[in-house]
Amino acid sequence: MPELVFFSGTMDCGKSTLALQIEHNRSARGLAGMIFTRDDRAGEGKLSSRLGLVTDAVEVEDGRDLYAYLVEHLSRGGRADYVIADEAQFLAPEQIDQLARVVDDLDIDVYAFGITTDFRSKLFPGSQRLVELADRVEVLQVEALCWCGARATHNARTVGGHMVVEGAQVVVGDVNQSADEIGYEVLCRRHHRRRMTAASARAAALSPDVLPVSTA
Ligand SMILES: [Zn+2]
Repeated sequence: MPELVFFSGTMDCGKSTLALQIEHNRSARGLAGMIFTRDDRAGEGKLSSRLGLVTDAVEVEDGRDLYAYLVEHLSRGGRADYVIADEAQFLAPEQIDQLARVVDDLDIDVYAFGITTDFRSKLFPGSQRLVELADRVEVLQVEALCWCGARATHNARTVGGHMVVEGAQVVVGDVNQSADEIGYEVLCRRHHRRRMTAASARAAALSPDVLPVSTA
């Protein structure tokens, strides 16, 4: 039976690397995939991983009907033995419904990869819809680590290294940002709740007025 599978995790947990691995394994077996992405760090129409791998993908714009796109692709003689949707947290809930329809009506496996929650620890609408509709949700086992060494489960947005909790849900930022621009850092829940990033932990450790991090 074809499946809609949601591979979820924090930023930096290897989602895109796994997406590229799945793509590699299937194309090595002669299968052809349709790859969707949105706002990848490598730019429009790319699926990339932090390990440096990259492949071409279809950039999903607002309002694009993914089911209709697949139907048109197939009706023109194109192949799609499976679908990969990376950065699926940025898809609209309707687009997740369209992916479920691809599974049910076209009998095609869909592998969606995304971050579950935003920098305020709220579900992205696309991820929420995936949790609601997926046949399986797989939490990725390559664990990202907080600066303290604990398992990182939460995404923090930072400005100048300091965690912020206000702002739009989607602001694309990454490495290659100058220090006062928006970036992201993965943290354990404890340090996300305390808004303690690596930079603020270092600053606190240097200040005699603040308790050592290990007992904070
Ligand atoms: Zn921590």
